[in-house]
Order: sequence, then C-alpha cells, then structure tokens
Amino acid sequence: MILFVNMIEFQKACPLPDSGIKPEMNIYEKFGVPTLINATGTVTRLGGSLMEEAVLDAMKEASRFSVSIEELQNAASRIISNKTGTEAGIVTSGASAGLTLGTASLIAGMNLEKISRIPALPDIPEILVAHNQRNSYDRAITLAGAKLVNVGIDDIHSGAGVRGVELWEYGLEKTEYCVGVLYTLGDRFNEKELTSVVKWAHQNDLAVLVDAAASLPPYENLKGIPETGADLVFYSGGKAIGGPQSTGILCGKKHLVSSALLQMLDWDEHYNLWDPVEGLLDKQQIHALPRHGIGRGMKVSKEAIIGLLKALELFTPESIEKKRSRFLSQLNQIRENLESFVAQAELMEPENDYPVLNLYLNTDKEAANALQLCARLRSGNPRVFVGHGRLKENILQINPVCMREGDEKEVIRRIKEELEG
Ligand SMILES: *Cc1c(COP(=O)(O)O)cnc(C)c1O
Repeated sequence: MILFVNMIEFQKACPLPDSGIKPEMNIYEKFGVPTLINATGTVTRLGGSLMEEAVLDAMKEASRFSVSIEELQNAASRIISNKTGTEAGIVTSGASAGLTLGTASLIAGMNLEKISRIPALPDIPEILVAHNQRNSYDRAITLAGAKLVNVGIDDIHSGAGVRGVELWEYGLEKTEYCVGVLYTLGDRFNEKELTSVVKWAHQNDLAVLVDAAASLPPYENLKGIPETGADLVFYSGGKAIGGPQSTGILCGKKHLVSSALLQMLDWDEHYNLWDPVEGLLDKQQIHALPRHGIGRGMKVSKEAIIGLLKALELFTPESIEKKRSRFLSQLNQIRENLESFVAQAELMEPENDYPVLNLYLNTDKEAANALQLCARLRSGNPRVFVGHGRLKENILQINPVCMREGDEKEVIRRIKEELEG
C-alpha cells in the first residue's frame, strides 16, 4: 500500500479526469462559448455595452434583497425625471419595449377594457410616421396592436427632387383612429424639426413618441429631446448609458408613464390588498386591477433596474469626456499601426459623439475585399467583429465603444495579419 505524504503527490499519481476547464478561462469559455472583440459598437447581437464595476456591484447588492417592483419603479421615476427634465419615467426592458408600452399607453391610458384587449382592438389605432423615418425597430409599435401609417414623399432620398417629407403632409393621413406620431431620431437631433412636429401633433390632439434609443451622447440630449414637448421619449439603457443591455428608459408625460407601468407590472394581486405608494399609480383612477398587460413579457428585474439607475447616475458630461479620450487613444494607436496597410485611415471625431476610425482598403489587393476580410476577422483567433456598415465602399469601421482596454492591440495584429497574408 502506498501512502501519499501530501496532496500534490497524490494528485500526480491519481490525476482527475480532464474536465477541459482551465483556470484562465473566462465564464463564457467555461460554458463552452468563445468570447470576441467587439469593434462594432453597442449591438445587441454581440451583447451590447460592457458595464462598469460600480454598476455590477450595485446589481450584485440589489440581488441580495427583495423589493416591491412598483415602489422601485416609483423611485426610478424620480431619478429619471430629474435627469431628463420630464414629469416621470420608468425602466423598461430596452427602448424597443418602451416603444411598445408607449404605444399601448396612447391607446389605452387607464381604460381597463382597452388594456385587456391590446393588441387585438376592434378599431385599429393608427400611428403616423414620416416614411423616411421607417426602420426595423418600428415593429415594436405594431406589437401593441397599432398600425403605422406612412406620411409624405421624400424626393431628396429618391433623388427625384429637392423636397423631403413636409409637415402639412401629416394632415393628409390623419383619421379618427389616429392616436399619435412616431418620430425616429437618427444620428442627428434636429430640434427645430421635432419641435414643429410636436406642435402640429398637439394642435391635432395627437401625442408624439420619440425613438431616441441611440441619440446619446451628447449628454444634453437627455433633457434636450423631451424639452421639445414630445409626450414620450425612449432611450436605450444598454448603449451609451452603459446600463444592462436589457434595459431602456421610457420618460415623459406622467399620465402616459403611469399607463405604461400599469401595463407592465405583474397583477396577480387582490385589489383590496393592493396599496400603492404615492407616485405613478393612483388607486382612485383604477376601479379594479387589470390582468397582466401587453408588457408582462417585457419585465425588468430589480437588478436590471438598479443597474440602469446606477449607470444613469454615472453618466455625466465628465464621464463621457473621459471615455472619449480613452477611445481616441485606442483609435489613434490603430490608425498609426495600420496606416501603411490601407489606402487611408480616417479618424472621425464628431463634435457630439464618440469617435470612429474608417479604414479604406486598397481595392487592388485581393486580400482587401472588405466583405471577405470582415468574414475572416470574425472567424480568426480571437474573433474580431468590425463595423460593417460601409463594406460596399470597401471601408472597415472601428467603433471603440465596446472595446476593452488592450483590445486595440489584437485588432491591429489581426488586421495586419490578414492584409499581409
Ligand atoms: C438600438 C435601437 C433601438 C432598440 O433599443 P433597445 O434598447 O435595444 O431595445 C430602437 N431604435 C433605434 C433607432 C435604435 O438604434
């Protein structure tokens, strides 16, 4: 019989079966999923924003207690309204969910019958939208049972003329079923245009929903967009704010925010026992509790709500500046190292947004076909996902917003490797 003097000798003699799990693996690798370098931006498909330690700590602490979600959303409302200059606000499970809940609030308000029927309403409610603002996210509006009605003609976009969609054209499509206007902000917030749409809508008893999901930074937009008088504004929590990827903000007029919350909460409760704190929901306004509303499947966990609130607290002009300089330094390193491998490396520094780097590829080189290069970068080691919005022009874009410190070195190495090879 052999006696082992210590554990190390014992393990050498009797090795455990190899689990394949190595101590240096990250949590995803331990579950068999390779991680990747995201140089594309806060895209949902690649997991969205990377949260700061302070946000993660807050979420961890939030997980240790039970809390009333209704009370937590009331507290969130005070914080959001303060930061956005609105009457009220709640945390939703993304800007998309916000669009659905916001539409539901325009349709139903506090009307229990309508809340119960959404999305199958006898008279289909209509939401007007300038047809050049139609986009893949507006599906969220129709999810609440509304129909999107395209407004206007855009000759500038089609190249057929000099005029885009004009304000008077909204009136052409307005019917008795209309409840609101959807306004989607692109990269640029045109304050004058949105203000005039809001003015027209209010003169016509319609509310305005503003999809501002990706309209931060600049920081000023947090207050500037609601200041136009828009009734509800939606921001993503998982983009520039740096909150959990599955969060968003719905903010604006209190009666609409209240309706959105009513249609999102879990109502497996007795009316007589329900004791709302003063805030978004008023027992006087609701003679019975609704069944679970359209938003029940869009619930937000207490951890996610706290994570968003903490991220929102940390989202300041100073933190944006700090990030901007880190991103600039990363992009400059990439530019300096790759300049001689591409036709042009152009650093874009928009005044109000984070910088991006455009790499114009040499079109004469086989290795530089943008689509194929993009694919090879995705399948290499490590996997690198670069911005793919301008591949047709043979441009790779490097967006630093979801890059970790040090990722720039791998981006340089991998692109060099592919262009040399
Ligand atoms: C990202 C985005 C959304 C969706 O936001 P989520 O928070 O991911 O739900 C909606 N609209 C626009 C314009 C966006 O850019």
